[in-house]
Order: sequence, then C-alpha cells, then structure tokens
Amino acid sequence: MDQRYEKYAKLLIDVGINVQQGQTLVIRCPVEKAWFARMLVSEAYKAGAREVVMRWGDQEISRQRYLHAADEIFDTFRPWEADMLNTLAREGAAFLSIISSDPDGMKGVDHARMTREDRVFGPAVAEYREAQMADKIQWCIAALPEENWARKMFPHVSGEVAMEKLTEAIFSTMRITADNDPAEAWRRHNENFSARTAKLNGLNLKSLRYTNSLGTDLTIELPDGHYWEGGSSRSPRGVVFFPNMPTEEIFTAPKRDGVNGRVVSTKPFAVGGEIIDKFAFTFENGKIVKIETADPKHRKLLEDEISVDQGACRLGEVALVPYDSPISNMDALFYDTLFDENASCHLAFGASYPTIKGGADMTEAERAAAGLNQSITHEDFMVGSADLNITGVTHDGREIPVFVNGNFAF
Ligand code: ZN
Ligand code: ZN
Repeated sequence: MDQRYEKYAKLLIDVGINVQQGQTLVIRCPVEKAWFARMLVSEAYKAGAREVVMRWGDQEISRQRYLHAADEIFDTFRPWEADMLNTLAREGAAFLSIISSDPDGMKGVDHARMTREDRVFGPAVAEYREAQMADKIQWCIAALPEENWARKMFPHVSGEVAMEKLTEAIFSTMRITADNDPAEAWRRHNENFSARTAKLNGLNLKSLRYTNSLGTDLTIELPDGHYWEGGSSRSPRGVVFFPNMPTEEIFTAPKRDGVNGRVVSTKPFAVGGEIIDKFAFTFENGKIVKIETADPKHRKLLEDEISVDQGACRLGEVALVPYDSPISNMDALFYDTLFDENASCHLAFGASYPTIKGGADMTEAERAAAGLNQSITHEDFMVGSADLNITGVTHDGREIPVFVNGNFAF
C-alpha cells in the first residue's frame, strides 16, 4: 500500500475537516473505497471524534435506481432521510465527503428524474445545506482515484498507467509527497490566499468586467459589503477547515440582478451524464436570457439545470484562479469540478455563499435584500482563458486591472 494514503487520511482529518474532540463526524464515501474510509475513521477517533457516522455511496446502484426505479419515487422523499442530515448539522457534526466516480457513470439516465429529486429533496435538507453554505458547520470534499475516471482522463495509455497518472495528480494537488509534512505545506499554501483577498477587499470594487477573444464580454456587479474569501474557512466556533481540497480559488458573491453581457465557457461542463464541450450564456439584469450550445440536446440540458428553481438562472459565485495555477499547468482535464474549478476562473449559477458582512447570520430575506442569490442548486462552470482580462471598477469610477492575460495583475 502506498504510504501516502496514510498521510492523506491524516491530512483530511486533522487539516481538511479538522474534527474536534467530542465532535461527531459524518463521512460520505463510495463502498469501493471502504479501505480508505477505515483509515479516516481510525484517524478521526485518534483525533477525539465522538462518533463517526458513515454514509456509503455506490455509483452503479444509483445509476440503476435512476434507470429502473418506479417513476413516482423521484417526486417524494422520506422525511427521516432529510431529518438525519438536518439533525446532524444542528448538533454541530462535521461532514467529510470522498468523491471517486466515473465521469460517464450516469450516462443514459433520465436527467429529469435527477432534477425532480433535487426539487423535493433540496428544500427538505435546507437546514443542512444552509449551515454548509454559511460555513456554520465544518465540511470538506476531497477525492480518491478511480479506474474509469483515470481512463477518461488519460485515454491513450493503459488502464494501469492511467490510474498511476491520476493518483500522482491527486497527490500532487493535495501537496503530499513521500517525505513531506503535508499539514505544513497546506499552512503555507493558505497564507498565499490571504495576501490577495486582502488586496481585493481593500479595493471594495463595484463591478468586474470580463473580456477575452472567445467573445466573453460580461459585467458583474458586486453587492455592497461583499468580501473575497479563499483557502480555509472558519466555523462560528473558530474551527479552521478547508471546504475543498485541493483549492486554488478566491471567490465572492455577485449581485443577483447585476450581471449583464455574454460569457463563453472554456472547459467542458458535465451534466446528467453528458459532457457539454462549450456553451455561452447571455445575461440581462442578472438573469440568463440566452443559452448557446452546438447541440440542441445540450441546450435542453442546460435549460433544465437553470430552471430547477427561481434562483438557478442567476449567478451565485465569482471565482478567480490564475491561468498559471498548479492544476491548470498540469494541462489535464479532470472532468470533475473539484479539480477543474481550480484550473480556471469560474462562475457558478445558483446559490451564493453569504460572503457579505454579517451574511452568515442574515435571514434568507435579508440576504436577498442585500443582493445575494438563492437556489437549491450551485453549479460551477469555467470561463478562464489565457487571454482573459478582468477589470475592476471602484465606486468612484477608477478602473483597476485585476486579471491581465489570464493571471492576476497583482
Ligand atoms: Zn469555486
Ligand atoms: Zn462553486
């Protein structure tokens, strides 16, 4: 067994989720990776966890359910399933998710069934979701290599070599080597975020204008009191954790009705088992009013995605990632948001994180009044390119370069 997995498990427990003495930890993990889940559980109890609650997943079984289960089940939910997540969140549990799946594993399933299920389950787990979005609970998402995923990423080599390449890529992005202290590497990594968020927060920008040669010309207004965040988060109890590992982005929330213009995607977008290579959204007063895709079937998929609820057709996240980021420099497409979002400037349609002053403690109505978008969905899509320029405009009309040719101007 690769020794690095032990370091990885310890890193996720001590730094990623940072489970506290006496705290309940919920781990979501694919059944095939039970060997790794056991390592996590062992580290969690060593760190003083009160109890580890497992939530097993299996992509093939999920696929069969979406394909063959009775149609009416996708419009209902069992209250106890939602209650379990809501109760654990209320009790202050931490939530660690391990992803490791085939990007094409849901191919052929009826996407509408997934959307219908989201529509009933999303509102039912609102308490849990809200606690997570506002960082009121510790949460962390990380990944393990998977064979079909590796083959998809590296189709021109044998399955075994592909798996080795994906494994190396994951350890490299997780800053784990055979002889380093990954916790120390993450501490240093985290310091780099602070400098840039401080600079952007000091500028207190009114809006950002994105332009590139692909036809992106988009203006995004930022709400009053917004702040930029990146790297680690802090729960109200003062516990520092990393919501995403890896992470290379700094992000804030856009003003829900302040987005205008056209943006062209720069990396494939996975939805309902399909991969959409390229698309463009046109916005008017915050709302997506036009979707362009090469394939009409793909346009329909995106239309479904942005009509899950009222807020799904508006932006909820503005994230900056240099074109020269380590993940971008790997020049590999992961077909997974956790990695690909860290290789490119991105936006998300759907819910925003409450990154405005006092946002975490605001009611839904107060957040809406402050200009934040709300939705049961949150989907990142990539818009960064080598020639992307982003110009910030201050409240007194000064123009400040934020990104020049794909990278930070400062
Ligand atoms: Zn992001
Ligand atoms: Zn996001």
